[in-house]
Parts: sequence; structure tokens; C-alpha cells
Amino acid sequence: MTAVAANERVNLLGLPKAELEAFVGTMGSKPFRARQLMNWIYKRGEGDISAMTDLAKDFRAELVTRAEVAVPTIVKTQVASDGTRKWLLSGGNDQAFEMVYIPEEDRGTLCISSQVGCVLDCTFCSTAQQGFNRNLGTAEIVGQVWLAIRELSKETGWKVGDDRIITNIVLMGMGEPLANFRNVIPAIQIFLDDLGFDISRRRVTLSTSGLVPQIYKLAEEVNCALAVSLHAPNDELRSQLVPINRKHNIAELLEACWHYLDEQNGRSVTFEYVMLDGVNDQPEHARELAQLLRGKPAKLNLIPFNPFPGTQYRRSPQAAIERFRDELMKRDIIVTIRKTRGDDIDAACGQLAGQVTDRTTVRLGSKTFGLQVRA
Ligand code: SAH
Repeated sequence: MTAVAANERVNLLGLPKAELEAFVGTMGSKPFRARQLMNWIYKRGEGDISAMTDLAKDFRAELVTRAEVAVPTIVKTQVASDGTRKWLLSGGNDQAFEMVYIPEEDRGTLCISSQVGCVLDCTFCSTAQQGFNRNLGTAEIVGQVWLAIRELSKETGWKVGDDRIITNIVLMGMGEPLANFRNVIPAIQIFLDDLGFDISRRRVTLSTSGLVPQIYKLAEEVNCALAVSLHAPNDELRSQLVPINRKHNIAELLEACWHYLDEQNGRSVTFEYVMLDGVNDQPEHARELAQLLRGKPAKLNLIPFNPFPGTQYRRSPQAAIERFRDELMKRDIIVTIRKTRGDDIDAACGQLAGQVTDRTTVRLGSKTFGLQVRA
């Protein structure tokens, strides 16, 4: 556990069970107190320690002085015509990040951010245009889910603990989750933990642009679903669209994906493929892609490009997307077209921009990724 200044309260949100047990241990309490706290925080959505009535009085009184449940502040809430909700959350110092809730008939998906901005510079992504400020802390990542449940239960009349509110969590908001490994892993542990949000491992999906070494590390640390932003069927094109490909090419990336499945007993990797008019959406691209993925434990998810101000790209026409899908299906690839949600409030994939300021604080630079960071 990180050292805390005497007057600084520990944020209980985001502490995995072992750390919470260690913390209550420093107060002379037994490990079962950690279970009680997790029950209050994650199952009952309680953020006020003094309201946690079954904690022993003395323990509670001391805890109030030493700890808190602190979540990001909501700066703005928007609701799209299709019911998709987007929240802008404060990251302090004029920075902000976004999360999006996508309700569907049989499920509710929360799309969360892992960083304020991103260093990866994918040419078709609006977050990349913002530059990069910082990694989100574990509490800020877990806090997104906690807050969304609270807000949705206020709005919809659902009760905290009702498993219809959020059935799926996807790390597909702002940032590259594997570039914030240290804070993302404990957050995923809390999503999966039956004392935490208790979401099935197939319903928590981490999406990465392809940080190969971190995919190997991920395989050792947590068991969740993996999505990979492929976007092109060959290295030449992928290096233009997803610059990290210059460092870790498609062959290396796919090898890491199959390794991940072997280690995790996973069923398949989802490959995301943004449909850019005249760039990567031609039938020959589909055929090349099929060669790459045929016979592999892979699902392909075609994402119609979502435009943002200043972009040079256009969305492929619907007919081109369907033709692309058919070419792949003919070759036995499992392929779906992602439904565009919330685009009237800029909540769709790749449209999240938040507020990234003071870009001089960029810390992950060319050294880490071999990439230029926008200044
Ligand atoms: N950094 C992670 C997660 C971010 S975004 C990653 O790269 O996977 C989630 C998905 O949306 C990614 O597949 C991303 O490539 C895609 N995306 C980004 N910008 C987009 C846009 N403008 N339109 C459609 N999809 C986009």
C-alpha cells in the first residue's frame, strides 16, 4: 500500500480485497471488516462511512477520520435520443474524462476511460487529437462504475445491486488501458471479484491498440475478455492508421492474442475494425483479413467510423460495410457490425474527447512507445 500523509484519508474505493484487509489490519481489525466494507461500497453503493451501520462503533468512528469513499465529480451529463448517456467527469486541474452508458434490451454496457487523453496517435481517433495528460488512478477507474450505478439508479428507479443496471464493462473509452497497467489491473480485479461488482469475466472487456508485451503480462494477471484494435489487414496500412504497429507488427500481435487465450481459457479475441471510406474497406482488404483470421479463435467487429471535427476520414457507406462483412462471412469469419450509439451527443466510439489541458505534463513520450506525442 502506498504511504499516506497523516492528514490524508485513504480512499477505500479501488483497494483490492488484500489491500483493504491490510488497511483494516493497521487499525487492529480482523480481515472480515474488509468484506463488510466491500459489501457496503460495491453491493449497496454506500459512499458515507458513517452510514455503514453494522460496523462496530469504535471502528467506524476511527475509520471516518482515516478513510473515505471518494469518486470523481460529475461535470456534465448528456442523454442521447437513443438513451445512451455520457458523463463528463472531473480529473482535477481543469482536466476531464468521459464515460458512456449504452442501454440495450438485454444488457447495459458501461464504456469507461483509463487515461485523460492518449499517446497512441491513431489517426482516426478523436481522443488522440487531444494529446495526453495522465493515467487515471484505480479509484477513478472503479469510481466510474460506482458513479454510473448510482446515477442510473436515481434516474431509472433501478436499485443498487440490481444486475440489470450494468451487465457489461468495456475499457473502450479514453486512453490505452494497457499503457496504464498498474492502475487498470486492480480495477479489473474489483469488477470481477464477487465481493466487488461481481461481473462475469466474459462481460469485462479490455480493448487495446496492441501493446504486445503488456498483453503477455495481462495473461498472467487477470482473466477478462480481450478486444484488439486491428483496423487493417497488413502492416503497411496498419502502421499508418495505428502507429504502434511500427513497433509491434500484426504477426507479433496475433501471436500475443493466441497466447492470451491459451493462458486464460478464453474463447476468442474480438478484433475491432473501423470502416474508413476508401482506406481499408475494399473487398481485397476483406480477403486479406480473412486469410489472417481464418480458422483462428477470432471474432471481427466492424465499427462504422464516427466522424469528429477536423478529421480527414469519412465513414464507409453502409453498402460497402455490408459487402465487406459478406466477403468475410463467405470465408467463415464470424463478423458483426457495431451499431452506432449516442452519436448525437458525441458519445460514439472514437468521439470521446473529455478535456485535456496543460499538455506539457505529458510523461509517456517517445521513449515508451517510439511515437511522437502531440504537443
Ligand atoms: N485504446 C484502446 C481503446 C480505445 S477506443 C484501443 O485502441 O483499443 C475503442 C475502439 O474505438 C477502438 O477499437 C478504437 O480504434 C475505435 N475507434 C477510435 N476512433 C474511432 C472512430 N472515430 N470511429 C470509430 N471507432 C473508433
